[in-house]
Amino acid sequence: MNAARQATIIGAGLAGALMATLLAQRGWRVEVFERRGDPRVHGFAGGRSINLALAERGLHALRAADADGAVLRQAVMMRGRMVHPLEGEPQLQRYGRDDSEVIWSVSRGELNITLIDAAEAAGAVLHFDRRLDSVDFDARVATYRGDLAEHRHPFHTLIGCDGAGSTLRGLMDARRALGERTEWLGHGYKELEIPPAADGGFRIEPNALHIWPRGRYMCIALPNDERTFTVTLFMALHADGSGDPDFDSVATAADARALFARDFADTLPLIPALEHDFEANPVGTLGTLYLDRWHLGGDAVLIGDAAHAMVPFHGQGMNCAFEDCVALAQALDADANLSTAYATFEAGRKPDATAIQRMALDNYIEMRDLVDDPDFLLQRQLELALQARHPQRFIPHYAMVTFMRIPYSLALARSEVQRGILEAATRGHASLDGIDWAAADTAVLALLEPLEDAA
Ligand code: FAD
Repeated sequence: MNAARQATIIGAGLAGALMATLLAQRGWRVEVFERRGDPRVHGFAGGRSINLALAERGLHALRAADADGAVLRQAVMMRGRMVHPLEGEPQLQRYGRDDSEVIWSVSRGELNITLIDAAEAAGAVLHFDRRLDSVDFDARVATYRGDLAEHRHPFHTLIGCDGAGSTLRGLMDARRALGERTEWLGHGYKELEIPPAADGGFRIEPNALHIWPRGRYMCIALPNDERTFTVTLFMALHADGSGDPDFDSVATAADARALFARDFADTLPLIPALEHDFEANPVGTLGTLYLDRWHLGGDAVLIGDAAHAMVPFHGQGMNCAFEDCVALAQALDADANLSTAYATFEAGRKPDATAIQRMALDNYIEMRDLVDDPDFLLQRQLELALQARHPQRFIPHYAMVTFMRIPYSLALARSEVQRGILEAATRGHASLDGIDWAAADTAVLALLEPLEDAA
């Protein structure tokens, strides 16, 4: 029944290549147009983060495309946060209860190539070096630029997977306002590299996401399978009166060395090319994109970052984009009418996108400031204890977002209730010893219904 259905996908990044795979597997005729060259020929020209944390939501989507095995073969397991205080030894804070609850560090380039291969194997036709330039929605023709020429292709419907700076979004908005609003974080990031040790191994613990929290700024490091780490420095773009460093005042290689010597001293021997990396790599900006509408009737729909870009601090942007792909494929399976299928997709996913955007913003404060705060650590201990006492009802916030596939909006609502229980139970306590367990149990039973994961 679906054999004649057709879609044109804009962007062969993470969401575009997965969306193409899922639709082609269902018998759709799929064409994909990508601005960059074919990464299998030219190498991956990323531009954004070099590696990413993959969690259950993303893995579930990769399973649907039969791409999970290939991706996990190249991934590095991360059991928890390795927190590096200003003074003292680093401490591992596990993400879950055991090694069944972990996340995976994957290379953006390798992941993208795996998904492009999967899309082609499923029958999608990919056109590289084709940047969407304009769309005639009445004539149903899109114009692309590439190889010093203009290329016109008819389309049936457009699926915008062209990322945070989406061209398709702008063209849709010109036809009917989408209600676009971006809130810039005012903080940016820069990537640096920890190379392998002299013996070819990892220089620091590989199975962890390393964090150097420093209050209003931080460094993190994720492992790569070639035994390197990608380090990312996050801090304010401009001075904000707090006296903390910012990218305006830390502008040169010498400034960077001085900052690292003062605040991240244990990383200095690990990053031999600090000066080079700092000067060569650009400062990335971060923001949250909100839209009132994600689709234009049955003509076009936006998914992934093009619809709801978020700050990266929950490690969920790609995971959420992959969930979008599965949800859109399901909506299209259930409804032959594109306009109503897109409306169903948007109504189902928008509250969840808004929820993870908010949780991603909150998590910046947790990562850069709270992970070495005694009150936060006590609440984290209590979370695990309450989970052990009420495994169906009290599931830690991080686990609901990362190891489950319940809607993000439900995870956010339950997390807010749970935070209230944790704050009330730990108020005035420095350890779990004096906790009023009866009161905590009563609150859990009264406020939290048993929870099952999405089917
Ligand atoms: P993109 O990956 O941006 O892909 C868009 C594609 O469209 C690209 O291939 C681009 O070349 C192409 N394109 C753009 N314009 C056009 C055009 N006009 N015509 C044709 N093609 C076009 N997410 C996680 O889940 N975990 C993490 O750990 C994580 N870490 C991150 C760290 C940083 C520093 C950043 C910035 C983001 C991070 N993210 C993470 C978020 C993640 O990168 C994005 O959510 C994800 O890449 C979104 O995928 P996408 O396909 O929607 O967009």
